[in-house]
Amino acid sequence: MKIIIYILFFLLYIFLPVYLARLHYLSVKSAALFCLINIFILFYFVRKNLGRINQARLKIQDLQEQINIIEDDNRREVKNKGALGEKASRYRRLKDIIEEINQDLDLETIADKLAALTFSLVADNKGTCLLYLTDPQAPQALSLFKTKKEVAGMAVKSKEGDIFDSWVLKRGSPLLITEAGKDFRFDLEKLESDIGRPFSSLISAPLVGERRILGILRLDHPRAGFYAQDDLRFLMAICELGALALENGELFKRTQDLAIHDELTSLYTRGYFLERLKEECSRSLRQNRGLSLLMLDIDYFKNYNDKFGHMAGDIVLKALSAKVVEGLRDFDHLISRFGGEEFCVVILGLDKKKAYGIAEELRSKIEKTKIILRRKDTGVTVSIGVAAFGEDAKDEKELILKADRAMYEAKQKGRNTVVCSL
Ligand code: GH3
Ligand code: MG
Ligand code: MG
Repeated sequence: MKIIIYILFFLLYIFLPVYLARLHYLSVKSAALFCLINIFILFYFVRKNLGRINQARLKIQDLQEQINIIEDDNRREVKNKGALGEKASRYRRLKDIIEEINQDLDLETIADKLAALTFSLVADNKGTCLLYLTDPQAPQALSLFKTKKEVAGMAVKSKEGDIFDSWVLKRGSPLLITEAGKDFRFDLEKLESDIGRPFSSLISAPLVGERRILGILRLDHPRAGFYAQDDLRFLMAICELGALALENGELFKRTQDLAIHDELTSLYTRGYFLERLKEECSRSLRQNRGLSLLMLDIDYFKNYNDKFGHMAGDIVLKALSAKVVEGLRDFDHLISRFGGEEFCVVILGLDKKKAYGIAEELRSKIEKTKIILRRKDTGVTVSIGVAAFGEDAKDEKELILKADRAMYEAKQKGRNTVVCSL
């Protein structure tokens, strides 16, 4: 606009001298000179203004660029803020769930909740989540404990873990695989035979306990690049907190095991056995299924102790327990160390006659078992009383009483014998 005003203004100064010359108020020379000067002035101002316009244009471009950069930054910031918000909410949920898991003491429940939490928070329930645990007696071997999967019915072939799981367990380090088929750190030929289901990407982290690696948590997906570094970091946080809960669960299980298992023989304790016997009697009634009870007592065990010592007596108790367990392997059974040198055995689904047969076999096996002490063959014999639920007794207390009486009769008959309750 400004430039148009200039042009009009200067055109007036060019035509004005021409017009004045025509009217003979100015000589032609003076008018021409005046015109020329005005044209120069006009050029000068036009050029100056064009320069300014270009400068302004460049400035506008500059500003636009800066606006674009700021807008980009802003967009990124909004995105980051969103991602951060999501991250914060993920970690908040993790904290709540871990607190909840820590209230549990049962190892099964803890493991199940931990696998479900990992699958949902890290992978949005996509792909597969596997929780492997190790055994305190075999800390280098993994065994599949819990599985969560998107596709129901998908088989997990490697119950002891594959090459990736072994890698994580051996090194105690986390692992991110973007595309399994292209990761040359691993023996790919071995991998193919290991895969029971299709997967391309995976993340895995160890559950590190106080004394050993308790297991590993692993997620895999058929799509390459499904997991990001951030997902692995989150999985590591879960593992760190989950390991504590799992360790508590293990400790509780061990305490429970100690409460129900006899320390010397590992057989059920009397208290636990009585609880189970009551349950089994009710089940036997409901299902009309046979239940027989064997009461077994070592003959003259006091003499054995006196002769060979209490330690030798303990060895006999252990060896005899193992024999009884072995002899009942093919039957549905419960075995308890009922007292010092007394054992109580429940055989489920068998009538008294068959139970008698098993008792006789046990008696004979124990009689033949030799324990070498100070280069001498030593051994013990047992007296066994047999009674059947329903046939001889209406409840578990009566059943124990009847079997005990039969065992006492066996003692009376000269020991090393089996007697059935009448
Ligand atoms: P009986 O043939 O009449 O059963 O004779 P017994 O000597 O076996 O019976 P008694 O009840 O007189 O003695 C039981 C012995 O069992 C006494 C005790 O020294 C022994 N005993 C009980 N518990 C243990 C144990 O944990 N370890 C050892 N070594 N001996 C035990
Ligand atoms: Mg005895
Ligand atoms: Mg006794």
